This record gives sequence, structure tokens and C-alpha cells, in this order.
Amino acid sequence: MLEISKLSSCYGRIPALAGVSLDVRSGELVALVGANGAGKTTLLRTISGVQPASGGSIRFEGQDLARLPARARAQLGIVQVPEGRQVFGPMSVEDNLRLGAFARGSDTHLDPVLELFPVLAEKRREAAGNLSGGQQQMLAIGRALMARPRLLLLDEPSMGLAPRLVAEIFARIAALRRLGTTILLVDQNARAALGIADRGYVMETGRIVLGGGARDLLRNPQVQRAYLGTC
Ligand code: ATP
Repeated sequence: MLEISKLSSCYGRIPALAGVSLDVRSGELVALVGANGAGKTTLLRTISGVQPASGGSIRFEGQDLARLPARARAQLGIVQVPEGRQVFGPMSVEDNLRLGAFARGSDTHLDPVLELFPVLAEKRREAAGNLSGGQQQMLAIGRALMARPRLLLLDEPSMGLAPRLVAEIFARIAALRRLGTTILLVDQNARAALGIADRGYVMETGRIVLGGGARDLLRNPQVQRAYLGTC
């Protein structure tokens, strides 16, 4: 579904991506893990088109995205949930969700999203700013789902959440995958991300340094030492 080849991207003269190649097949959940500053967010932003590429290619369902602006990529079904949630605090939960559908010009798709996140149904008339961090993350994901993504790009969904909420968010993401959504998941919580993924990639300083089945990566001593906090 997504084929990235030798992708590079820079901030001014500083390279953030230096020849990244990876792929995501239809229906897969692929985790991308790595330390702070490795380039994970930049990669997602380059796929969604808000950050320009300086070399290489991105193909989505066979189509070269090079000339397509972010809006056109969203219309193809590439939808990103940005780091830090960015919900509209004064607006109600329901209006935040409806904005997601507006972005892709799709029909409203509210009921299945509320079914997946019952807490959003309970709080649909409340201001989004009153939700807890975990609930706001669910809202950010729910808003992206309103656009009926073909490929969902999730950036650090567990950031700043207490362990219990991290487990809940990852359980919801795993449920989405079972429902058939194709997902590229970036998270510093490598254990949790690889724990629900089919495959994974490890990124360091703008490059992919390892890739493989998620279970194999979890057992890999290099990954264990660097990202899983085991000796
Ligand atoms: P994090 O988990 O901290 O978000 P990351 O793996 O997502 O890390 P990026 O945010 O993609 O990494 O950053 C990759 C590199 O690009 C880092 O060296 C970072 O300092 C730099 N960088 C990121 N955003 C900008 C920017 N707007 N301007 C200049 N440099 C940037």
C-alpha cells in the first residue's frame, strides 16, 4: 500500500531523513520506533505532505505522491494524528469529531467511531478541553477515523499518558487494526508499539537500522538493550 524508497528530507541544511526505505502492506500495523530526534515525526510529516521531501519516492497504492500537496494526500485517505493531540479545546467532542469528516469531504461516520470509543459517546456534548489526556488522545484518533482513512499515521499516541491509559490506547489501536485499518504507528514506547504490531522498523539519526517481524524485533538483543530497557 505504502512504498517508501530512499526518502530524504532536510530542515534547512540539516538532514532529518537520510535515505529511508520502508513499506506498509494493506491491513498491516507497522510500528516505527527510535530515540528522540531519530526522524520519526519528520517521516510521518513527509508522508502526509506537510514536510517536503528532498529526494527519494513515496508511492501510495501505486501512485507517486511527489507532486501531491498534503490536502490531496488526505483525500486519497492518508490521515495523520499529530503528536500532542491538538484537539480544539473550547469545541464539543462531537464538533471535534465532525471536523475530521469535513477534512476529507466524507459522509459523517459518527456512530462507528462512538462505538469504538464509548467514552466519547458519553462525553459528546462536553468541551474537548475538559477531557483527560487519554480521552483527548482517543478524540484525536476518533477525529482522524471520521475521515475514513485508508492509511492512518499515528504519532506518539502514548505520549504523556499514565501506564494504565497507555495500555488502553494501545488496546484501541489493536482493535482498529483488527477492523482492517492499515496503520503506521510511531511511538517511543517500543515495547507497547511492537507488542501490537505485525512488523516494525527501528530508526536512528534519519535512517532505518533494523526491520522485521514485531516479535523478532522484541527478541532482538540490540533492540532490547537500546529501546526496551533490558540488559
Ligand atoms: P521526537 O520523538 O523527539 O519527536 P523524532 O524521532 O520524531 O523525535 P523528529 O522530530 O523527526 O524526530 O526530528 C528529527 C531531527 O530533525 C531532529 O534532529 C530534530 O532536532 C530536527 N527537527 C525536527 N523538527 C525541526 C524543525 N522544525 N526545524 C529544524 N529541525 C527540526
